[in-house]
Amino acid sequence: MSVRDRVAQIYDQVLVRNAGEPEFHQAAAEVFESLHVVLERHPRYADAGLIERLCEPERQIIFRVPWTDDNGNVHVNRGFRVQYNSALGPYKGGLRFHPSVNLGIVKFLGFEQIFKNSLTGLPIGGGKGGSDFDPKGRTDAEVMRFCQSFMTELQRHIGEYTDVPAGDIGVGGREIGYLFGQYKRLTNTYESGVLTGKGITWGGSQVRTEATGYGVAYFVAEMLKAKGEDLEGKNVVISGSGNVAIYAIQKIHKLGGVAIACSDSSGYIVDKKGIDLDLLKEIKEVRRGRISEYADAVPHAQFIAGGSIWDVPCDVALPCATQNELDEDAAKTLIANGVQAVAEGANMPTTPGGIALFRDSNVAFAPGKAANAGGVATSALEMQQNASRDSWSFEYTDERLARIMRGIHSRTINTAAEYGKPGDYVHGANIAGFVKVADAMISLGV
Ligand code: GLU
Repeated sequence: MSVRDRVAQIYDQVLVRNAGEPEFHQAAAEVFESLHVVLERHPRYADAGLIERLCEPERQIIFRVPWTDDNGNVHVNRGFRVQYNSALGPYKGGLRFHPSVNLGIVKFLGFEQIFKNSLTGLPIGGGKGGSDFDPKGRTDAEVMRFCQSFMTELQRHIGEYTDVPAGDIGVGGREIGYLFGQYKRLTNTYESGVLTGKGITWGGSQVRTEATGYGVAYFVAEMLKAKGEDLEGKNVVISGSGNVAIYAIQKIHKLGGVAIACSDSSGYIVDKKGIDLDLLKEIKEVRRGRISEYADAVPHAQFIAGGSIWDVPCDVALPCATQNELDEDAAKTLIANGVQAVAEGANMPTTPGGIALFRDSNVAFAPGKAANAGGVATSALEMQQNASRDSWSFEYTDERLARIMRGIHSRTINTAAEYGKPGDYVHGANIAGFVKVADAMISLGV
């Protein structure tokens, strides 16, 4: 059987085995596309069921999360933790609290996380978790009770050397605090390394909050450099207005670019002079308000309700909101408007059709597993500080992050060239991420 047929056969088995999980199928398809390139050169990676083992999570945990709202009503949500692969280190990956969360979503994110974490070059395996709990409109006390209930079950499955969760959509510093507090209460242990994204005064790392956004900006700067360009004066459109988008905007400005648009689920704003970050942070982080409030406060800015932020002409596009937010139509518009580079700040924000168009048009396109790895990489730096009971300065940690992102960029682009796909970040990231995990799995035996 040819390598291509063998890969296709395994992929079909994965589809059948994981029926009804479209996001997981999409994430798997993205990686499988690169597998035949590796297997043609190194057929041994298909031995001993390696690919089949890689596709099946080592452990999948689903649990009940009962909690009481402020009016005394009891609610029941569902909690998940998918411990995907621990060949390179303890399972590592965020927790997402959003009504869209289900097993398929957590599996797609966990699967991506394996390759992303591998690409960082740091000793972390892949996992992901979360709940279909919707934090929107919930009081602080309700969020606290939910987090405590979630951790009451999760605590038996995690640990510094087992599984180290962190934040993702809907889980920020506040939630990590309540989760860590409950873990400490239940275990009577100050085990700092069990969670990352902690507050600076209780075991957290400098730059962790900023890391994913900063990392995307560092990565896209490297992409432009590889084309003989730089960020100076470039117009950058960034979807989202959460943690990733906010700090991507900050670093883009620092590196000489102009972030001209960002969004939330109600619409997007355009500020051609460059987004005022203090104002954006005040609206989104302090007031927890809507993006339209930005245009209310800045006369030369516009708010467009609904619509697509990708209609805004730009040199660089950074999708930093959520999965499948940039589709084929959006990609066509961006290409027609002359976009030069696209880097994914969110996980899988571009649809397969969108990715194909960018690659066919020679637009530099970096998948999230490479471009947004700065967050989890800085989590690994947090674990390193926790293990040595140390805390590093902001400057030192930021420099480490910048170095890691440059490393991921060169690893990705060099691997692409080595496998005959020069400039193709998708193949480069998939192959470099896969080979390291696969080698470790071979060493560790079946
Ligand atoms: N949720 C982030 C990601 O998608 C960070 C995970 C972590 O820090 O463990 O990579």
